[in-house]
Amino acid sequence: MKCPYCGYKEDRVVDSRATQEEAAIRRRRECLKCGKRFTTYEYIEEVSLMVIKKDGRREPFDRKKILSGITKACEKRPISTEKMEEIVTQVEHAIQKKSDREVLSAKIGELVMEKLKALDDVAYVRFASVYRHFKDVDGLIEEAEELKRWKVRATQE
Ligand SMILES: [Zn+2]
Repeated sequence: MKCPYCGYKEDRVVDSRATQEEAAIRRRRECLKCGKRFTTYEYIEEVSLMVIKKDGRREPFDRKKILSGITKACEKRPISTEKMEEIVTQVEHAIQKKSDREVLSAKIGELVMEKLKALDDVAYVRFASVYRHFKDVDGLIEEAEELKRWKVRATQE
């Protein structure tokens, strides 16, 4: 695995463990040249799950794409990379359980929003604003108010 700091191609694994849902193996590696440490995740190659986009085109399910959307929404929020990875994994699992290898991109967005909703208000509203393409600030306010109502209901349950 190429070192992200110096590009050297040899390293040693210093720690290896399954992630919470055991869907991935997380390895801590140490570069044999510069000695810096980095993390890799190992996943099972899934039977290709296809995403149906708004315009009807299909593309393979892409963890990285989803993670990048979540990362943007979580910028400067107290959410670890690991937690974000976990959301992607949970979403992936939820889709695999239900679908017959095809899922609407809208469904993925909804699932991510559901997870962020319970985790961080700011990240949630940010993600929602990109995902739902609010046309103006009213749409954004409406979403924030909806979140407030949801939280009140959640604490009453
Ligand atoms: Zn290195």
